[in-house]
Amino acid sequence: MKIQVTEYLVIDLEHENWECRCCGHRLISARENYKKGALIHARDPRQIHRPLIDATKFAYTFAPDPALCVIYEFYCPNCGTMLETEYQVPGHMPVHDIEFDIDALKAQWAKRGGVATPDMGPDIDFMPDRHLHHHRH
Ligand SMILES: [Zn+2]
Repeated sequence: MKIQVTEYLVIDLEHENWECRCCGHRLISARENYKKGALIHARDPRQIHRPLIDATKFAYTFAPDPALCVIYEFYCPNCGTMLETEYQVPGHMPVHDIEFDIDALKAQWAKRGGVATPDMGPDIDFMPDRHLHHHRH
């Protein structure tokens, strides 16, 4: 049985693996940090949050200081889907942010019997004013 954990991460409970939701690639044991099974790219935060003022004239530009912040991007090594991102102190190890008791998870899902389709919420219109109105003139 496979259960969806995040938008791009799935756990295969039968084989106890993290998998990419897009291509099914086995990343690593579900008892490990899934990030160890992904490709990592340490990005300069200024590439994501560009300076708002001229960086040649000012030391502080409202962009994150790369001496204090790095953005880790984690990718599926098979299909290249970005699985997760993490803001971190440069040189710090990625955090182990999702850790399940796999034995308890298996027991819990054995009683449920699995999910055929992703659990989707109702189709709610949060911004009704942004609808396109079709007027006849
Ligand atoms: Zn993939």
